[in-house]
Amino acid sequence: MNEKVRCLIIGSGPAGYTAAIYASRANLEPVLYEGMEPGGQLTTTTEVENFPGYPEGITGPEMMEDLKKQATRFGADVRSGRATAVDFSVRPLQVTIDNEKVIEADTVIISTGATAKYLGLDDEKKYAGQGVSACATCDGFFYRKKKVAVVGGGDTACEEATYLAGLAEKVYMIVRKPYLRASQIMQDRVLNNPKIEVLFEHNAVGLFGEKGVEGVHLVKRMGEADEERYDIAVDGFFLAIGHKPNTDIFKEYVKLDEVGYINTEAPTTKTNVEGVFACGDVADPIYRQAVTAAGTGCRAAMDAERYLTEKGA
Ligand code: NDP
Repeated sequence: MNEKVRCLIIGSGPAGYTAAIYASRANLEPVLYEGMEPGGQLTTTTEVENFPGYPEGITGPEMMEDLKKQATRFGADVRSGRATAVDFSVRPLQVTIDNEKVIEADTVIISTGATAKYLGLDDEKKYAGQGVSACATCDGFFYRKKKVAVVGGGDTACEEATYLAGLAEKVYMIVRKPYLRASQIMQDRVLNNPKIEVLFEHNAVGLFGEKGVEGVHLVKRMGEADEERYDIAVDGFFLAIGHKPNTDIFKEYVKLDEVGYINTEAPTTKTNVEGVFACGDVADPIYRQAVTAAGTGCRAAMDAERYLTEKGA
């Protein structure tokens, strides 16, 4: 027989753990599956200095460990395992874990997050945590008065470059096309900022440095007759080429936007499927911060609790 739970939480970033804290304190006896990357994206960050309540900062992995402890303290059942399929057309809702075990749930909270896209260079892995980052708000502070590069030409890249220009001495934007894809206002901000130099028609093909990133190998007009290769010196290399929300297994049932983020009925965390709620980066193309994810995790647990109360379940 399948295991039956009142509240199943899928994903273990700040949103999932916060949902687990609230759901366990509301006696929903939540079961949380940690997923592929226990702790989520923050476990790939070094220092978190912008989460309220940690005046000295804390490392991403430590913060996730603390959130997990806080959730288990109130009885949340945190398990390793990955949701590999769902059936939201039935009641109770069904979620398959690791392609074998099926859990039946009265409510499901989706907090599977989003994954930053990388260029796929070996050097991105080599220098992970040593100058390569996909979050300027998280890591920009470490580059005060230094030189950095931002890859991408969309709104995120412009926003990150503008943010970094407030801290760093110089910001290069590496844009593969001869134009920016970002909205006009974001483009204007970038193009009018004397600290930002936009390198149009450039591709980053590698990084170099002894103890962390010291520069980028660039190719201008790659593949053209007048192709040029040269290096720039930078201390930080920021990717801003988009995120991929982790929604593949839900897309048959849950309404997504054109990029794949889950649509919720703002200001709630309700999805179009009754009893299914979404929180954190999986439903947030804009803010993507640990603190905003935690906030929506709280809301999802409260929404689930109210739903169960209304149903008398
Ligand atoms: P986008 O998909 O809009 O832009 C991605 C950028 O990265 C493009 O310039 C793209 O280049 C470039 N890129 C993608 N892959 C590569 C690659 N392999 N090599 C080099 N460059 C690459 O993503 P964003 O994250 O910027 O934005 C996502 C959505 O969120 C958008 O709808 C955006 O408007 C929205 N957003 C809104 C904000 C706001 O309103 N404040 C802030 C941030 C995001 P190319 O153009 O050549 O494809």
